[in-house]
Amino acid sequence: MTHAHFLARRKRLLQTIGNGVAIIPTAPEVVRNRDAHFPFRFDSYFWYLSGFPEPEAVIVLLGAQGKQKAKSILFCREKHEEREIWDGYRYGPKAAKLAFGFDAAYSIEQLDQKLPELLVDRDSLWHAIGHDAEWDARIAKALNAVRAQTRAGKRAPRAIHDLRAELDSMRLIKDSAEAAIQQRAADIASAGHARAMHACRPGMAEYELEAELGYEFRKRGADAHAYTPIVAGGANACVLHYVENNKLLNNNTLVLIDAGCEVQGYAADITRTFPVNGRFTAAQKDVYEIVLAAQDAAFAVTAPGRHFMEGHDAAVRVLTQGLVDLKLLTGDVDNLIDKGDYKRFYMHRTGHWLGLDVHDAGEYKIGDDWTVLQPGITLTVEPGLYIRPAADIPEALAGIGIRIEDDVRVTETGCDIYTTAPKTVAEIEEVMRHD
Ligand code: MG
Ligand code: ZN
Repeated sequence: MTHAHFLARRKRLLQTIGNGVAIIPTAPEVVRNRDAHFPFRFDSYFWYLSGFPEPEAVIVLLGAQGKQKAKSILFCREKHEEREIWDGYRYGPKAAKLAFGFDAAYSIEQLDQKLPELLVDRDSLWHAIGHDAEWDARIAKALNAVRAQTRAGKRAPRAIHDLRAELDSMRLIKDSAEAAIQQRAADIASAGHARAMHACRPGMAEYELEAELGYEFRKRGADAHAYTPIVAGGANACVLHYVENNKLLNNNTLVLIDAGCEVQGYAADITRTFPVNGRFTAAQKDVYEIVLAAQDAAFAVTAPGRHFMEGHDAAVRVLTQGLVDLKLLTGDVDNLIDKGDYKRFYMHRTGHWLGLDVHDAGEYKIGDDWTVLQPGITLTVEPGLYIRPAADIPEALAGIGIRIEDDVRVTETGCDIYTTAPKTVAEIEEVMRHD
């Protein structure tokens, strides 16, 4: 992604805000304990508009007003010889302005002093209201500083808008530069899953597979895990957000891995479920094929003009029929869907938007209407079946938890699947052969 992409997004936002002012801070650094910080992760909105990687930075967009042209301004850390010895390179305002295509750049130290000046006589203020209490207070203070000058003829913005609504609808549709990064994230994450499959043996611990994923992600240059990975052996797969990853993997059970890497801010999100010993039992295979067919049914309706929930509805139909075939449910499929009986075994939605956030920005529903898919929208398709052990569940099926998750981009005619990790029974058994 070149700085032209970020610049074009700022331009587009500047057109929306009229003569208003938009304020977009990056994320704060977060202390883990005492002097140790969590690895810094920029704010996704800030990144989307700048590509600027440092903490303590703020974008201010000033809409065109009279003879003044629209302007994008960056506040960032000043150069600092000593701090740079300890913490590494800083651009400093001068170099950042050039490298990231801003019209002006100042030290972050000057922000509170400059902010009121920037708000004077602007009609509207745009920021992520309520996202961060400290920022809400900081902005209120700047507004009050302008209001205090009313008698000097200075006017504060009268309207305050939530900037997220605008940015969310921009972020929902990915451009070709974003698509290229998402493909790379998906390629690396797919390789990580294939590596974990290949390494898996009965008696290993779940965290050993987590290590294989992490190795492949970093080895291939991904920045980090995009979210806490799930490595769930046997019935642990029926705990949807299982992240302990510390149990042993038993022979004749399945293991579910939900893991993806982050590349230039963009997440991949993949789930694969495979037999610990490399061969599906008949019962495991029966359930697996149902989930796979449900995913295919969802792919078939992931296309422009279809709405977000159609994929889920298609998957639910196949899964419910499958549950009847497995004799876990009895009755008429339509009726079982209407009553929601399938939810005992399938309790989550079939997908979510995917981008800079693993559960990405963008509306799913406005009023009663589900969002209609259009080219560039990127989402996951992730049906599953989770058969928790219980008195009425046959032994062979008890504890089977399966989810299959891939990342897809809506195209002009349908969808492209980014992810390539082994998926069919034959592909998985092939990659897991050790002879
Ligand atoms: Mg996932
Ligand atoms: Zn997901």
